[in-house]
Amino acid sequence: MSVSASESPVPARPLPAAADVVVIGGGVAGVSTAYYLARAGVSVVLCEKGRVAGEQSSRNWGWVRQQGRDVRELPLMIESLRCWHDLARQVDEDIGFTVGGVTYLSETEADLARHEAWLASVKEFQLDSRMLSPAEVDAMLGRTDRRFLGALHTPSDARAEPAKAVPAIARAAERLGAVVLERTAVRTVDREGGRIAGVVTEHGRIACRSVVLAGGVWSRPFLENIGLSLPQLAVKSSVLRTSPAPKLCESTFGGVSASIRPRQDGGYTVARSGASRFDIIPAAFTHFRAFTPVLRREWRKIKLRFGRPFFDALGQRSWREDQMSPFEAIRVWDPEPDHAVLDDVMRAARSLYPQLADAQPVERWAGMIDVTPDEIPALGPIDAIPGLFIATGLSGHGFGIGPGLGYAMAQMVRGEPTFIDLSMLRYARFQEPGGIRSAAEA
Ligand SMILES: Cc1cc2nc3c(=O)[nH]c(=O)nc-3n(C[C@H](O)[C@H](O)[C@H](O)COP(=O)(O)OP(=O)(O)OC[C@H]3O[C@@H](n4cnc5c(N)ncnc54)[C@H](O)[C@@H]3O)c2cc1C
Repeated sequence: MSVSASESPVPARPLPAAADVVVIGGGVAGVSTAYYLARAGVSVVLCEKGRVAGEQSSRNWGWVRQQGRDVRELPLMIESLRCWHDLARQVDEDIGFTVGGVTYLSETEADLARHEAWLASVKEFQLDSRMLSPAEVDAMLGRTDRRFLGALHTPSDARAEPAKAVPAIARAAERLGAVVLERTAVRTVDREGGRIAGVVTEHGRIACRSVVLAGGVWSRPFLENIGLSLPQLAVKSSVLRTSPAPKLCESTFGGVSASIRPRQDGGYTVARSGASRFDIIPAAFTHFRAFTPVLRREWRKIKLRFGRPFFDALGQRSWREDQMSPFEAIRVWDPEPDHAVLDDVMRAARSLYPQLADAQPVERWAGMIDVTPDEIPALGPIDAIPGLFIATGLSGHGFGIGPGLGYAMAQMVRGEPTFIDLSMLRYARFQEPGGIRSAAEA
């Protein structure tokens, strides 16, 4: 694991004394929330321990998809796609947003059945998703061998360039009046009479009435330090990008052994879904029962090991506000990619996608994905501490849903009804008997 540790203790800008709202975390969840709050005229400060989009939000594949979503988060994703269309115009920068469609290849009868079942389950949402015939798939991929039994395809799905999009939304939020502070870790919240009165950062206090915790994998330790539980674990996922290669069509493609997205630079982002490494940390034991169904389903693809995070920051459970927090110890989590997995993924990609035959891998990286036991986000107020909200647990598909989530969080924090019902995603479900259900049980 390589970690870019405390780069500088100096904040990029002076700390404001007060704001209406402090957002913790400069990933897509936090940045989108700050953007929509600022657009509504709310005074908002966003604190990011490292750099905006340094973690998951720049390391992801860049898929903005409705296809394949859990029906409990699909309504939010449908709205989020609308937000992406608006943002592509509003941020006034190129974010690589392209409606090119998403296609999941059906390599086996089991894939075909799973894709058809998903299509049947989302009929009421009237998406433009449909099954493609083997001949249609071949035409898209430039093949003639009928290797695939079909595919699930959603033409209205999209993609964006993660490393450009989230920083661009942050800059747009700043133009609307938000204050974005990098190299500013929030150690804890400050309370008066039980409710939020501010945050304590490594550089001092900011008074505020509301806090939105959008800390990605760091949300669980942040909450544990103030006596709250969040069943959320971190799994490592590795990715590579290739040199420029021919583009046969605009769609991104998902296959069991390799998935690809065309990039603006002419290459492809290549990875394998679910090929993750899960480091066993103390929290894994605390929440083991809640996660058993996910681990049982994914155990073939997930490698378990007692990794360094067991002993380092993600394992630390308590600190005081005048002590250095784990968030300062690891400014930007930059884990070492799994090279053996990526070598295998590249071989598979060349076999599945003819356009990659001569493409060379030119960069590899990894990211730590935050996962909840039911693999859907946790959004909304935490009743035990009035004024505290969370927007976390995006479970490996939060890049696409981030802008819609930010829109909804801004409504919640302002005390307005949200544009869609988000009760399925409430934090309280984790404490309710039977509150954690898989997509199949929902
Ligand atoms: C390899 C990979 C591929 C993926 N592919 C896709 C995809 O194609 N499509 C899709 O929709 N999703 C995808 N995802 C998931 C998506 O990237 C994440 O769900 C999303 O980016 C999470 O956003 P976030 O804002 O919640 O977290 P993050 O982006 O991780 O941001 C959290 C931020 O909070 C900061 N922070 C934490 N604690 C503190 C603190 N106390 N003080 C200050 N700052 C703090 C961190 O430094 C971090 O920058 C992928 C993820 C990975 C890793």
